[in-house]
Amino acid sequence: MVASCRHADLVAAAGPYAQLVAAQRRHVCGATREGTGKAASLGAIFQPDGERQMAAVLIKNGRIVTAVDDYQADILIEDGRIRTIGQGLVVGNQVETHDASGLLVMPGGIDVHTHLDWDFGVARTVDTFGTGTKAAAFGGTTTVIDFCNQTRGASPLVGLEDWHRRAASASVDVGAHMIMLDVNDQSLTDMQTLIRREGVTSFKLFMAYPGVLMLDDGALFKAMRLAGGHGAMICVHAENGQVIQVLVEEAVAAGRVAPKYHSLTRPTSMEGEATHRAIKIAELAETPLYVVHLSAREALAAVAEARDAGLPVHAETCPHYLFLTQEKYDRPEFDGAKYVMTPPLRDANHQQALWRGLSTNDLQVISTDHCPFCFNEQLFGMKFSKQQGKDDFSKIPNGAPGIETRLPLVYDGGVRQRGLSLNRFVALTATNPAKLFGLFPKKGTIAVGSDGDIVLFDPQDTWTIRASEHHSRVDYSLFEGHTLTGSVKKVFLRGQLIVDGKDWHGREGMGEFLRRGACGTL
Ligand SMILES: [Zn+2]
Repeated sequence: MVASCRHADLVAAAGPYAQLVAAQRRHVCGATREGTGKAASLGAIFQPDGERQMAAVLIKNGRIVTAVDDYQADILIEDGRIRTIGQGLVVGNQVETHDASGLLVMPGGIDVHTHLDWDFGVARTVDTFGTGTKAAAFGGTTTVIDFCNQTRGASPLVGLEDWHRRAASASVDVGAHMIMLDVNDQSLTDMQTLIRREGVTSFKLFMAYPGVLMLDDGALFKAMRLAGGHGAMICVHAENGQVIQVLVEEAVAAGRVAPKYHSLTRPTSMEGEATHRAIKIAELAETPLYVVHLSAREALAAVAEARDAGLPVHAETCPHYLFLTQEKYDRPEFDGAKYVMTPPLRDANHQQALWRGLSTNDLQVISTDHCPFCFNEQLFGMKFSKQQGKDDFSKIPNGAPGIETRLPLVYDGGVRQRGLSLNRFVALTATNPAKLFGLFPKKGTIAVGSDGDIVLFDPQDTWTIRASEHHSRVDYSLFEGHTLTGSVKKVFLRGQLIVDGKDWHGREGMGEFLRRGACGTL
């Protein structure tokens, strides 16, 4: 469960700047709202306009699906939490009632890999927390774990303060992973503070992007050893950054600058090599490991081998690797730049291996790696646009959108077309992320006492993905024109209806910060 709030002690000992940050954060950790005498979780059952207080919400006649269950029942949510689950629940007429006949009733999705409002110098992602989490909500996701980062030479605690300022506009609940860029005595101490005091219990280490984000193996080892001893999870971006750097420099020098060379300079073997190396270092450091955005068969084989040996090694993949292949880089003009993310799209053999990994539990999570940059520069400027790399693929901001389409894509492509069970669908998109990242059972399931984060999903509705109808600020979709069966109808965040068909009832800032507990293994 989520750690208790210690902000009160912190504020007492902090300077004006820290007090400002703490004040912005206060609403998000369950601390008392000044003047109202009500806990923040009670605030969640007020309507956005604050005029009407709802006593409770009843979702009736639905088919409840969790990672293990599948049955017809009603759900009563009070004070933001699931109070009662039963058949034919009788309630008074003051209870807001939603009929879920014919719909799947599932826990709100959890997306543990997003980059919202992320500035890394030359480029910045185009979604704010407000727009990105609204898009998430329309896609059935009610919890996001986003990446904040240390700035080299500065404490990661400063990076977290900056992230909190940006995340204050979130419309769904949010947690933070910390990207570590320096590993030294002070930052190792700061990692302990993040785990124990701040509820940041996972850290991302890059094995790619030398000179920018990459850590050497010694730094990986030190950070892993610290995490393993404190119940935290290490997430790795596993590619051999130095070899890839050579290939990229050679390609650019030879005038091979089109978007497709992004793919050709990042071979699957170098993802496999780094994944294997990360696993071996994590084994020596005795820490659980989570490989982010796994795309290659070689990397999956390394994870499978480790799991067969009983090691606590986990991995996620993303919808773009499951539904798209590298032919996208051959699209005319500069269109291939839309698909420039890292690792790049692979071929159909790798895709098949990923689907198999999802069913054999060698892959435990599907996240989006939502890292949106506009294709065109006119909307928000060159800093937010793929056009930076018009004449040089190595300058194309790496990343692609996807936060709004994860659940419907995986339902259609996984459950309907490939025989993934509904229980497995919920496990991959909600329950496993909650368990691995210290949120279960508050999040990730439908159970008495869990947060009232619920998605009503119509398994029969057929629709077509259009970027023009999305809620992200990005100007394209990787899946433009894909027709899917299965759509999100209603979404509840802690019992409050935030999405009703095409209507938005949420508001910026209603998301709570999730102080996460110890990470789990699966
Ligand atoms: Zn990412």
